[in-house]
Amino acid sequence: MSGGEAGATRLTASLAARARRGLLLIGLLAVLLSGVHLLWTHYQLRLAAMAGTLAMVAELSAEHVDDTLQHHLAAVAVLGALAPVESDWPRYLGEVRTRFPAFVTMLVADARGDVLASVPALPAGSRQNVADRAYFSEPMRHGRPYVSDVFRGRGHGNEPIVAVSAPLFDAEGRMAGVVEGSMLSDDVVRIRTGLMARGDLALLLLDGAGQVVHASAGLPFAPLDRLPPDRLRTVLEQADGRTLHRLAGLYADGASGLLVATVTPLGWRIAVIVPEARLRGELLLDLFKLLLPALLAVVAVWWVSARVARRFVDPLREVIARLRLFAFHADPQPIRLAGAPRELAELAEAFNHLIDRLGRAFRDVNQALAVQKRLREQLERVVAEREQEIARRTEELRLAVDALREDSLTDALTGVGNYRGYRLALDRLWAQALERGMPLAALVIDIDYFKFYNDSLGHPEGDQCLRAVAAILRDLARRERAELGRSGGEEFVLLLPDRDSAAAARVAEQVRRAVETAAMPHPDSPSGRVTVSVGYASRGPGDERGAEALIAAADQALYRAKREGRNRIAGAA
Ligand code: GH3
Ligand code: MG
Ligand code: MG
Repeated sequence: MSGGEAGATRLTASLAARARRGLLLIGLLAVLLSGVHLLWTHYQLRLAAMAGTLAMVAELSAEHVDDTLQHHLAAVAVLGALAPVESDWPRYLGEVRTRFPAFVTMLVADARGDVLASVPALPAGSRQNVADRAYFSEPMRHGRPYVSDVFRGRGHGNEPIVAVSAPLFDAEGRMAGVVEGSMLSDDVVRIRTGLMARGDLALLLLDGAGQVVHASAGLPFAPLDRLPPDRLRTVLEQADGRTLHRLAGLYADGASGLLVATVTPLGWRIAVIVPEARLRGELLLDLFKLLLPALLAVVAVWWVSARVARRFVDPLREVIARLRLFAFHADPQPIRLAGAPRELAELAEAFNHLIDRLGRAFRDVNQALAVQKRLREQLERVVAEREQEIARRTEELRLAVDALREDSLTDALTGVGNYRGYRLALDRLWAQALERGMPLAALVIDIDYFKFYNDSLGHPEGDQCLRAVAAILRDLARRERAELGRSGGEEFVLLLPDRDSAAAARVAEQVRRAVETAAMPHPDSPSGRVTVSVGYASRGPGDERGAEALIAAADQALYRAKREGRNRIAGAA
């Protein structure tokens, strides 16, 4: 797979993935936004509901505390109004205590505060005076029933207690003392606390003096405590029975809480508290309930988008695969997309048209190329034939030229070099001698009395004689590596490279003797046979007179040989 194909595949995949991511993002964003909104609304609702619950519980608790106190107050008030004879007090007190079990102790005191009777009974013989207690002095002073603040008991244990008391009237209706009952401070609200604990609610009850009467477990207070001057105290002082307050560090373990505070008819204050963590827990639950469908929605969106993407991507892959096939194979198949979206089907159709057109174009081009190839081969064949022909003709021409050149340099009669050939050889050998710094020798050979030969034997015989002498000279020239030429008429020149005068003389003598030894008859020669005279000369490269001078010297030497009697050799001076 080439880089381009891989790129195309990657591009398609990333398009689908991008579309899917975009869809998901939009879905998630919508879910998140509405989720946040819902959560916020939920939170507000929960807060309002919590405020309502706390307010209601605070109200009920306040009523309950008031009822309890009023109940017990009524009991002692009725008892005070009955004015029984003194000896009956223990029985009456016992009776009431049986019906109001919250009373831990009850007593009757006379106008001086001396205790006349009490339950449980005091040890025999002991006396007790309660004139210093508010539950005695207040009813005595105002003539009305009284509810005390919380205080620490004495005589019968020393727990924090709350007392209710009422004036005692004698038979004539005069105030004769006080009837009193005391309850453990926790009992003032005991009935409710169990219920509240189940609801995670805590309760804080303060008396009119601001002392703690009751504090639920978990709160950092005990009966008789006074609250530090902090926000809690302010909230309780300004209790309105409605407003929800959030206070940090409300619990003994430092946890924060939400509370609503209210006032009882007696002026006691009650705070109902719930841990903030509970609200948070509920919110977490809400969040979970919200996230679960959101998560399901996301998965659904993912799944649907994947399916949609596949519906687009699969046909696109098919199109790409077909195009690739088309790119690499001559015979393309049309693209067929089953169940593809309309846009892709149209794309495939457009590609099919394109493929069709391109296929036809390919075929045309291939045909044209085939024709072109055939024509080129023909052309090449013709050219090759022509080239062979030309080569053949050129060779023939060259041979003809060579032959012509040979002819132009060869003497037709004797077959040795003619005058032109001899001149060319002379120039060449002289240049060579100069170049190599060696001498060049020349022999000029002339047949003796040749005119007479012709005259007596005829011209054709003369030609024959010329050929015979030339043959002798040719053999010699070959042996001596010399150049032979017919310089004119019955005169020959032998050019001998690298020969000094003495060497030239030796060759000249060989020539003369060879012709003489051939013993060709010559009727008009003194010797009776054909002979030659030879003039020779040799010139070194230092000689500035040149080749012409060499030949001239040999000529002069020949002239001398003729003059001195012929059939001899003569060297140049
Ligand atoms: P010398 O001994 O002084 O050389 O006497 P010669 O007769 O040889 O010299 P001369 O110059 O008087 O004569 C040369 C003769 O060579 C004349 C001519 O008829 C003959 N000759 C020249 N060319 C040819 C040729 O091609 N064929 C024949 N048959 N004779 C030729
Ligand atoms: Mg001659
Ligand atoms: Mg001559």
